[in-house]
Amino acid sequence: MTVQLAGTDAGMVGDDRPWQPLGLDELPLRDSLRGMSPYGAPQLDVAVRLNTNENPHPPSIGLVDALGKAATLAATEANRYPDRDAEALRADLAYYLTPDAGFGVHAAQVWAANGSNEILQQLCQAFGGPGRVAVGFEPSYSMHRLIALATATDWAGEQRADDFTLTPEQVTAAIETHRPALVFLCSPNNPTGTALPPEVVTAACTAMAAVGSGIVVVDEAYAEFRRAGVPSALTLLPANPRLVVTRTMSKAFALAGARVGYLAAHPAVVDALQLVRLPYHLSSFTQAVARTALAHADELLGTVEAVKAQRDRIVRELPGLGLALTPSDANFVYFGRFADEQDVWRRLLDRGVLVRDVGPDGWLRVTAGLPGEIDAFLAALSQVLAGARTDESGLVTLASR
Ligand SMILES: *Cc1c(COP(=O)(O)O)cnc(C)c1O
Repeated sequence: MTVQLAGTDAGMVGDDRPWQPLGLDELPLRDSLRGMSPYGAPQLDVAVRLNTNENPHPPSIGLVDALGKAATLAATEANRYPDRDAEALRADLAYYLTPDAGFGVHAAQVWAANGSNEILQQLCQAFGGPGRVAVGFEPSYSMHRLIALATATDWAGEQRADDFTLTPEQVTAAIETHRPALVFLCSPNNPTGTALPPEVVTAACTAMAAVGSGIVVVDEAYAEFRRAGVPSALTLLPANPRLVVTRTMSKAFALAGARVGYLAAHPAVVDALQLVRLPYHLSSFTQAVARTALAHADELLGTVEAVKAQRDRIVRELPGLGLALTPSDANFVYFGRFADEQDVWRRLLDRGVLVRDVGPDGWLRVTAGLPGEIDAFLAALSQVLAGARTDESGLVTLASR
């Protein structure tokens, strides 16, 4: 069967476009969106892609089959809307979270959406908005700021210390200054890989309670990659009713394509999100695929140790190349400091290795990929660094080409 896409080609070619010229400036774009660029890492067709923190292990043939069967079964009822409240999926997620939480998580404490980005958006829609402020500690996941702005929530970006750590005192001071409706913490933090001590999360909750009724969000997208002994903020939920912990199936679960994110929080927070979620936001296919993946959690999470081994290998090797890095509890490593990290990024790309330049100046982020990919990354990096100079402040300057 051939599918005809009427007019697609004719409409897309050169200057023969059938529409009038119209710039973004001429649209009634909200002021807060003017001058912004869409979020997104380059999706380049490169041999070694280590730029978006995906799990490099594709699903096994057996799991592909199970996911396909789940989707087929969902298709038999595709004429019906999905379960609006995703009850079964939320129960599965609650069961999955229970060991990390150290208490029996209940489905009423869990909410799911299309990726944790949608969860973050729903949090901003429910608790942010005009006249309200969200605080974050940068560098961190830039979507926290972008989602805040897109929901007309003001953003107050506080800077982390030079070593990217965060103290209870700094978090408390920022909350007292801004009196925010939302605080975003990220642990392990993207892009630095650093996990937060529980005292920082507790200090944030205490300070927020003291200045109002705001929500503390701990984004734990990389929780499953934590090193042994690093606790999850889930353990703090019972003592802190306004704490929200967000998770995703995009990273450790190797299910980025399915778009499933979720949170654990007080049931009242879940009730609040149901006021802003679109009806039937999570498709029956997504729910079925996510539940099947959770039923195969052992297999999917079986790749986590292999990914952590590659992370730890990068952490071991980079100092020998004269580079600095931050301790990583995630599936990536943040390394530098380069006089011109864009030049390093470009020279790695020339050698078929794509890493991420998310800022600030001087630093790059590399995802822990397959062993062969990390071989290629380390080999390309040592070629790029051949003849490089390091000044007394530790800044690395490459030899000219
Ligand atoms: C990747 C990532 C997410 C979210 O991703 P989804 O695919 O939308 O679940 C959320 N937070 C952080 C810090 C991330 O790095």
